[in-house]
Amino acid sequence: MASFIVLLGPPGAGKGTQAQIISKTLNLAHISSGDIFRENLKNETELGKKANEFMSRGELVPDDLTIAMIQDRLSRPDCVDGALLDGFPRTPAQAEALSKMLAEWGVGIDCVPYISVAPEILIERLSGRWTCPTCGYVYHEQFNPPVVVGYCDKDGSKLYQREDDKSETVTRRIDVYLTQTSPLIEYYRGRNLLAEIDGTLSIEEVTKKLLAEIKLKIG
Ligand code: AMP
Repeated sequence: MASFIVLLGPPGAGKGTQAQIISKTLNLAHISSGDIFRENLKNETELGKKANEFMSRGELVPDDLTIAMIQDRLSRPDCVDGALLDGFPRTPAQAEALSKMLAEWGVGIDCVPYISVAPEILIERLSGRWTCPTCGYVYHEQFNPPVVVGYCDKDGSKLYQREDDKSETVTRRIDVYLTQTSPLIEYYRGRNLLAEIDGTLSIEEVTKKLLAEIKLKIG
């Protein structure tokens, strides 16, 4: 039976870091909408150029573009056994679209872990992030630093700061999350899918709790 897990939480909660670990552990495809948009931008596709108009301002990419992109991605063979969704859905319309597409495929969402972190902590976290352009691993200069400053531990690539991790955009992204995405917490709680996890714990502790909650729901 396929398993679909939606990882919910504000930008900077650690969704990407946890999704990389959990998807490997559970052998599930890791679908990050933000990574797909950034990949499109790097390859200068039409979608990438359009998405960047919104991403660079910390705004959400319009629902129609985002939903079509995810539908296409979830239709690929590596998702037949399920997927771990990281950064999608981010609006009630996206959540409805996801339920509908999964229902058409005869499956559904199994679990929605919500990694909660207070907004005042997020600014500090996002502003100190450095990303590896090769493997996508995200470091933090204070909380999760690489061994050699500025370089990835895994492949030695020079780390970069995401355009939208610069301070003006960070505040906007948190506002957008609070107004447009946080209603999904109640949406999924009402459907008995939500499992709240304290995102201020260490990376290892959050992983442990996430795996325990997922196991409870999907066995
Ligand atoms: P992330 O890497 O998840 O922080 O996403 C980076 C940016 O990509 C966001 O700030 C949005 O501009 C865009 N984005 C990612 N996922 C979505 C989504 N589900 N809906 C709309 N925009 C998105």
